[in-house]
Amino acid sequence: MASKASLATTSSHSSFYNIIPGAVEEGLEVYTICFDRDWELWSQYPDFLEKINVIRVKDYKDTKATIKAFNSIDEQAVIVPHGSFVRYLSVDELKQLKHPIFGGVKILAYEGDRNKNASLLAASGINTPKVFSDVNEIDRPVMVKLHGAEGGKGYFIAFDRDDYKKKSKEKKVDFIQEYISGVSIYAHYFSSPLENRCELLGFDRRLESNANSQYLASFEDPSFTVVGNVPIVVRESLVPEYHRMGKNFVEQTGLVGPFCIETIITTEPKIYAFEFSGRIVAGTTVWVPYGNTYANALWGEPMYMGKRIAREIKQAFEQKKLDDITVDSPKLEEI
Ligand code: AMP
Repeated sequence: MASKASLATTSSHSSFYNIIPGAVEEGLEVYTICFDRDWELWSQYPDFLEKINVIRVKDYKDTKATIKAFNSIDEQAVIVPHGSFVRYLSVDELKQLKHPIFGGVKILAYEGDRNKNASLLAASGINTPKVFSDVNEIDRPVMVKLHGAEGGKGYFIAFDRDDYKKKSKEKKVDFIQEYISGVSIYAHYFSSPLENRCELLGFDRRLESNANSQYLASFEDPSFTVVGNVPIVVRESLVPEYHRMGKNFVEQTGLVGPFCIETIITTEPKIYAFEFSGRIVAGTTVWVPYGNTYANALWGEPMYMGKRIAREIKQAFEQKKLDDITVDSPKLEEI
């Protein structure tokens, strides 16, 4: 058996500035596959690179090479997925990896299917916007999401059915959801089998192109393309509800590890969850390395998502409980 807990991942913003710093801080052995696309940036940090094992792979689209590189790691390592990781490797390809995946893969399949994503939130007793599968049923303003659109790109708002018909021409519409007016807030959780609890670690907001600009001129349509993230503390009275949402989601799925519930708070105020991510998301990188209000209060030390992941892997390794953190959401059906 290896003498030290090990983690493996691929190059991305979340891995370089969040997952890997957390793993290094917790003293884990780190293996990372770095695609040529990212090497220009990574090579600017030679001192940091000395602390980790880098395996170079030319093209991130060459999924066979990525799988081969992962499977060449002899140490017993836990693979930590993140946004671009799950975009480039399909669920079937993830299943070809010989090392176990932190939190499993089922939840990633649900995340990637917008209908299943929204249904799983609703099944968890979480308040969600109405979904319109039939265009003729549109009876209120809707948010229209396109096929393959990432980071809100190309989304549009339609005020009613006729407006939808006009605006959707020649567009590959994937998903039509009730438009919720309010402030978008991203709640970040960590489900820990070792501590036997769902931790609400904190919140962030995305800054989305001109939707969050200083001023949106009346002749402009809002664009939801993400340009960055900022941390936030939420209105006091809403915190218990956010706790409840995370707990419900874990009870419904059995999910292990980081996840995010993406919400909008209305004027009432009422929380609507329009989507979830079943893994670490970019917005938690704003906490590195000082942690944030919620995570630090819970841990009594600076705590951020990458460090929290590493802490769980390290403790599972020491307690010989790696199987507990790599279970595949036991309450979820395979899709
Ligand atoms: P998504 O790709 O689903 O994360 O959405 C990108 C952005 O679009 C979100 O961060 C929100 O600002 C906005 N958005 C998504 N769904 C809705 C909705 N149902 N109502 C209002 N705004 C939404």
